[in-house]
Amino acid sequence: MKTYAHYINAVPVKGTSGRFADVFNPSTGEVSAQVPLANVSEVENAIAAAQKAFPAWSATSVLSRSRIMTRFTALLYKYQAEMAEMVSLEHGKIIEDAMGSVLRGIEVAEFSCGITQLQKGEFSDNVAGGIDIYSMRKPLGVVVGITPFNFPAMIPLWMATMAIATGNTVVLKPSEKDPACPLRIAEIFSEAGGPKGVFNVINGDKEAVDALLHDSRVKAVSFVGSTPIAQYVYETATKNGKRCQAMGGAKNHMVILPDADLESVANALMGAAFGSAGERCMAISVGLCVGDEVADRLIELLTPRIKALKIGTSLEKNLEMGPLVTAEHREKVMNYIQMGVDEGADLIVDGRGFSLKGHEKGYFLGGSLFDHVTKDMSSYKEEIFGPVLQLMRVQNFEEAMALASDHQYGNGTSIFTANGAAARTYADQVEVGMVGINVPIPVPLAFHSFGGWKDSAFGDHNQFGMEAVRFYTKVKTVTSRWSKETIEADFSIPTLK
Ligand code: NAD
Repeated sequence: MKTYAHYINAVPVKGTSGRFADVFNPSTGEVSAQVPLANVSEVENAIAAAQKAFPAWSATSVLSRSRIMTRFTALLYKYQAEMAEMVSLEHGKIIEDAMGSVLRGIEVAEFSCGITQLQKGEFSDNVAGGIDIYSMRKPLGVVVGITPFNFPAMIPLWMATMAIATGNTVVLKPSEKDPACPLRIAEIFSEAGGPKGVFNVINGDKEAVDALLHDSRVKAVSFVGSTPIAQYVYETATKNGKRCQAMGGAKNHMVILPDADLESVANALMGAAFGSAGERCMAISVGLCVGDEVADRLIELLTPRIKALKIGTSLEKNLEMGPLVTAEHREKVMNYIQMGVDEGADLIVDGRGFSLKGHEKGYFLGGSLFDHVTKDMSSYKEEIFGPVLQLMRVQNFEEAMALASDHQYGNGTSIFTANGAAARTYADQVEVGMVGINVPIPVPLAFHSFGGWKDSAFGDHNQFGMEAVRFYTKVKTVTSRWSKETIEADFSIPTLK
């Protein structure tokens, strides 16, 4: 059986802690590999490699960094299909979806190639006689990325590309559930001519994360995962003097107004709720139907389609849904379905009975649909992160917006309507970080930025886009005087004329 290594100083390094975790193929339920779980001294070795590489990398000209990112991007495109297969095999998402998710990561690498323009400073000429002021964006040092299981290519690429392009060196701690692709990405960086020690990968669990959060050589931590861990990482990292951005869980609402085209809404909901088996932080998990007619008609449209979802092993073509990531996660989702039933919601379609012929040990679930979900239910308040769509019935637009705004999570939301004024009011006023108007999954492109509000994100900066340039750099401002005039003594605060 395959045993993964860490990747330190541009070479694979065997795990020495003696602790390993199983990596599964969710389509078959078989263990496909083992991943080492690093101890403190292994984490320290990865940090030391990054620390050693930092002076030279941060002094590398911005044009050279841009050229390496350009070669890296070209190779990422070359290996896109190989990486997608790795994602699909260990995560379980269908292969077409895996290809798309890799692409969304490559797009951030592509954006980072423009670092010559993105990291430019500011210059004010002649603010007083012979005096100019200029500001520079300097890299921070060793920065850490800690990533979740559900996007093992895209999220490591969000973090590593922007951190490296801005002149930092990286230690990435990917999810222990699907480490193949993050390790491959670091190797590809070396193939692109990235210097050794600039991009390191350490595999592990809480022990590795804690070692990273407590090491004073680490200057910043970018985290994406569930809210309780995001909060813990944010509090621990900032208490230890590090810059931190920590993205957490989600419960994304779609508001459906009576004037919306319900055929389009049903199509949009199928992909947004059941794509990637609902294991997306931008999945739509709640449909807010304004009026009973909307709810009744949507149930009519959705029910047969959910029952007929094309489910199979992740590498098969033309499917709609693969398995969930682990048996444990599948169990958790099934418990939420039972919780919904016990709390009194109407289970219109129950996906728990689904089993794939020939793959009975795979972690498959069918799609589930609930109606009459209410805001006091725990199955509504908490994130399910599976192929479960909950419909709620509300009287009007204001009630729908209040539900989306009042929920503890505020990652994404969308509104489907033909009414421009309602859509604009919703986008303007809803307390959520990313909004779609007649767009079900409003994940911004690489040249904007990604981030939720409330318990979906802790810290001040979003992922990628200019927000990432700000997160991974600190500003230095220089005031310089070149003048023939003699400097005169002045005991009051300098006020330039
Ligand atoms: P998770 O929180 O279990 O794990 C995320 C990372 O934290 C992993 O690298 C894991 O090894 C590490 N970790 C786990 N337990 C830890 C602990 N006790 N102490 C320290 N580190 C620990 O999340 P997951 O299950 O891998 O991913 C799914 C979650 O991620 C969902 O909640 C989803 O909404 C969220 N997510 C959020 C976004 C976003 O941008 N907001 C994007 C993708 C996923």
